[in-house]
Amino acid sequence: MLRFVRYIDTFLAIFFLLLQLPCLFPARKIPDPSTELTVVDIHDDNWRGFINFLDLGKGSEVAGMSELKKYFNRFGYLSERKLNFTDLFDEELESAVLRFQKNLGLTATGKLDSDTVKEIMLPRCGNSDDRAAPRTLNGTKNFAYFYGKPRWRGSPSARLLTYAFSPDNMIDYIPMPEIKSVFRKAFSRWSAAIPVNFTEADDYPSADIKIGFYNGNHGDGEPFDGVLGILAHAFSPENGRFHLDAAETWAVDFDQQKAKAAVDLESVATHEIGHILGLAHSSVKEAIMYPSLSPRTKKVGLRVDDVEGIQALYGSNPNFKYSSLLSSDISSAWRNAIPQKSLKWTTILVVLLFIIS
Ligand code: ZN
Ligand code: ZN
Repeated sequence: MLRFVRYIDTFLAIFFLLLQLPCLFPARKIPDPSTELTVVDIHDDNWRGFINFLDLGKGSEVAGMSELKKYFNRFGYLSERKLNFTDLFDEELESAVLRFQKNLGLTATGKLDSDTVKEIMLPRCGNSDDRAAPRTLNGTKNFAYFYGKPRWRGSPSARLLTYAFSPDNMIDYIPMPEIKSVFRKAFSRWSAAIPVNFTEADDYPSADIKIGFYNGNHGDGEPFDGVLGILAHAFSPENGRFHLDAAETWAVDFDQQKAKAAVDLESVATHEIGHILGLAHSSVKEAIMYPSLSPRTKKVGLRVDDVEGIQALYGSNPNFKYSSLLSSDISSAWRNAIPQKSLKWTTILVVLLFIIS
């Protein structure tokens, strides 16, 4: 036994070395478009072509790069002044990629790495990512506002906003009561956090918030682009225009709607209401105000980031309880912080130490 104890140090050293092996020799990640980038199969517009730019960085020149520059221009990363975009990955594009990565909570590499290309190809909100992000203590940006921090005015104690559906611009394959129920739920998530109430009005022209489904160019200078790509957009306070792309396959229940490109109406509605109220895009991936949403994904709960942002504009609903939000945020952060693999190794190590002691 003594002999065994003498070798424990060596044994543990070898054990820890073995533990590190996956880090010393990380499995080489070969991007496999068929598994990693499944959205490509169902993406029906030119964002699909961005897969060709995988792993490119400054100095590369590839046909079609100008389309990527148009994408970055469209979402607020490249200035309007240079509309004659070339196919060269120049310094301006590199700084656009860096800002995109920062705004979307990705690793800032300045290159079109697989995480970045994947994010670029995802369907997303049509609102620009250009935003006024408040400075935080550690310098990280999360929730943000439109420039000038516009919000709905009116008495803070009795703020009531009306919404109405466009009589001429709706979809016909989801029954109206189901659409109304989805929007009621989406509005109620925000009114649970802030002292603002929403009620449906019959009179469309006089409603504060005007909801409608539109195809392509619909007169506001922000044309929709067909299946996936841009899903919806909404205007800052106190404009109230809330537009959804009529070309999407909108879903209220994925058990009934089996299309690969189906988009969850409630998730998009909840996100766009955030814009209607004055929030811009967040860099927190789990937040409702994150710009992208994968098809067949339901993401409807406000996160701490969304609540902090909206309460800084309107104050808190006196009945709002942080606890439910905090627990879901903390549990997901905990899950992300500790990969399952390390949990397994930690358990083995603890058992082993218990046996030899
Ligand atoms: Zn948005
Ligand atoms: Zn529009």
